[in-house]
Amino acid sequence: MERHASCHCGKLVLHCTGEPAKVSLCHCFDCQRRTGSLFSVAAFFRRSSVELPAGMAKAFRRASASGFAVSFHFCPECGSTLWWEPERLPDLIGVAAGAFADPDFPMPQQAVWGDERHGWIELPPEIPLHARNPVKAAPPE
Ligand SMILES: [Zn+2]
Ligand SMILES: [Zn+2]
Repeated sequence: MERHASCHCGKLVLHCTGEPAKVSLCHCFDCQRRTGSLFSVAAFFRRSSVELPAGMAKAFRRASASGFAVSFHFCPECGSTLWWEPERLPDLIGVAAGAFADPDFPMPQQAVWGDERHGWIELPPEIPLHARNPVKAAPPE
């Protein structure tokens, strides 16, 4: 399976091979502010199955609740965030699921940060909803 994701203006195009390792929906306020929408959907692919766009993207790095930073890569022309790199999961690249513009894209396997969810958003019952992000930071060594 080959897919491509692109930013709003089309200058950044990212290619993915195979199926995502995980698809996760997030209701958190950071995702709300980043997208301007009320939740975000991340498709996580193995780094080896993603071909990133050459040059041009800008990055915004911020801390996350896990204690690890995440770098969000966006188009300087149109502002769309296209992919992100969670330092907690260095083998995975998160791709904005909406950037595939594919209504048949696989459904999220989980939803996180239900604590910050707008109350009227009801997801299908087969998507488990977690109050926060259930993934804990790695224990200190
Ligand atoms: Zn763009
Ligand atoms: Zn979030």
